[in-house]
Amino acid sequence: MSAIERLEDVELRQLNTMGIAARAAELFEVRDPVAVPALWARFDTAPLVVGSGSNIVLAADPRMPLVRFRNADIELISDDGDRVQWRVGAGKIWHELVMDSVAQGLFGLENLAYIPGTVGACPIQNIGAYGVEVNSAIESVHAFEPRTGEWYHLSNADCEFAYRDSLFKQDLSRFVITDVTFNLYRRGEPRLDYAGLRDALPDAATLTPTPQQIADAVVAIRKAKLPDPTVLGNAGSFFKNPIVPLQVADALVAQYPQMPVFRGSSDATRKLSAAWLIDQSGWKGHRDGDAGVAPGHALVLVNYGNASGADIMNLAQRIMDSVEQRFGIRIEPEPRVVS
Ligand SMILES: Cc1cc2nc3c(=O)[nH]c(=O)nc-3n(C[C@H](O)[C@H](O)[C@H](O)COP(=O)(O)OP(=O)(O)OC[C@H]3O[C@@H](n4cnc5c(N)ncnc54)[C@H](O)[C@@H]3O)c2cc1C
Repeated sequence: MSAIERLEDVELRQLNTMGIAARAAELFEVRDPVAVPALWARFDTAPLVVGSGSNIVLAADPRMPLVRFRNADIELISDDGDRVQWRVGAGKIWHELVMDSVAQGLFGLENLAYIPGTVGACPIQNIGAYGVEVNSAIESVHAFEPRTGEWYHLSNADCEFAYRDSLFKQDLSRFVITDVTFNLYRRGEPRLDYAGLRDALPDAATLTPTPQQIADAVVAIRKAKLPDPTVLGNAGSFFKNPIVPLQVADALVAQYPQMPVFRGSSDATRKLSAAWLIDQSGWKGHRDGDAGVAPGHALVLVNYGNASGADIMNLAQRIMDSVEQRFGIRIEPEPRVVS
């Protein structure tokens, strides 16, 4: 099998969880990352790397070529009896990696079960759920920088991980991630603080749950809570929670005492709930043709079947405008909008 396969005029509906029926003129599937420098040398415009397309919105047919990693091997790097290091290909499906690790009794990724996407994308927004962010398990990220032609083994500190943020997110075309090395542990600390997680464990497991039991509980909670993209197209949380100066938050709370407010990244800022702002603006369950806001989730925009990227973005625009009109706060899309 060749290192790279080139496909033409590709239908993308299956390659984005929103289920938008865009087309790409060219899609390159990479099975061996050794071929990455030569592939990038062919491009006049920066390509779009797609994983599972669970954090992108195809607002139109992408004008750039697409690249998809299909390298999905797990390589054992070291095992000292407690800590096990795995290097994993960018094309590995994230949830499969989590299930592979918990099946071997390894702690580290169990709270992150059932997050859609690929290993190559997991460092980009430092995926997180149920009280854990993936940076807690990442040893290093192997990446190619097309601008300089250099390969890097970026350490955890180099990656500048923060809440839903990283070095990679600051400039999305700077690095191409080809594999990620994880630290996993046989004697781990179960992290069960997140609301509802402990209750979802089997009774006998609440004190010393295995990683498998925690992952299974997370999967059960997520299945019950979130619309499944294979049934109803969506990109998870469509809007970021806005961060505002403390004074702005205080003025809003004076007007809307029931408004949820969380600590921001510093004492001078506060994080507001985009879901609450959208719900209060009357959008939960709203539907414009096949584009809608999920009935149970103000933060999740859904494709009921044949919504185009433009339909989804028009609805998003109307929601952002109406929240701004009512609360004076501009919310922004969370996924990468591609046109
Ligand atoms: C139902 C649902 C629930 C979700 N729940 C969560 C959650 O709980 N927590 C959370 O953090 N996120 C969540 N997400 C968001 C999403 O799962 C993550 O952002 C995920 O990491 C995206 O992976 P992907 O492979 O689909 O990336 P894509 O959507 O394909 O790409 C996302 C970005 O990463 C870039 N990219 C992808 N692969 C590479 C690579 N190898 N090298 C360089 N750049 C790359 C793309 O160019 C793009 O900018 C959810 C999404 C959905 C649909």
